[in-house]
Amino acid sequence: MRRCGRCHHWEPAGAPDCERCAGIVDEIVESGWRGFVTQEFGTLTASDEHAVAEMVIDEPDRHPWRVVDAAYDRLTCAECGDRLSRGPAGCTACDLANGFRFVAVETDRPGVPPGNEHALRVNVSVVRRPSGISSREVRGRRLSLPHLLDGYLPTTRQAQAARALLNERGTAKRLSRDDDRPPAR
Ligand SMILES: [Zn+2]
Ligand SMILES: [Zn+2]
Repeated sequence: MRRCGRCHHWEPAGAPDCERCAGIVDEIVESGWRGFVTQEFGTLTASDEHAVAEMVIDEPDRHPWRVVDAAYDRLTCAECGDRLSRGPAGCTACDLANGFRFVAVETDRPGVPPGNEHALRVNVSVVRRPSGISSREVRGRRLSLPHLLDGYLPTTRQAQAARALLNERGTAKRLSRDDDRPPAR
């Protein structure tokens, strides 16, 4: 794991507030999109890419989650004007899209424990659309991203313990413990 040069978290745990870390999280889905487009279509014009994105979200259950999430990024929500699925909580169209994304296909990467990819996808989706989710939960999910990307999967007991810790600790203490920042910048 590496420290982000801008926010000093383990990459990309500074997302979504740190632009650099947020870019790394976006790249998780963007790399999936590029691989899919290259394999299926070669190169695409912007308008073709838009059409492919619409095709993908018509059948989200037939595509990997990274491809589906990236497809939503390419479409504009008619209701709130944000990228579809990433608008504020309460936007009906985005809430619906955010639910549909979870029917997408999830395949564990080689060499990582089963379930890692699921944890990664859930945490990526929360960090990329934190609206309506408690700051405590967003913090827990963003802080686990570097570990999940490394191929680590918490056991159920560890996950429960971490959640209990997040629920119990005072904010200041939790920030210094869980953020795992180096003492000086
Ligand atoms: Zn950062
Ligand atoms: Zn919306």
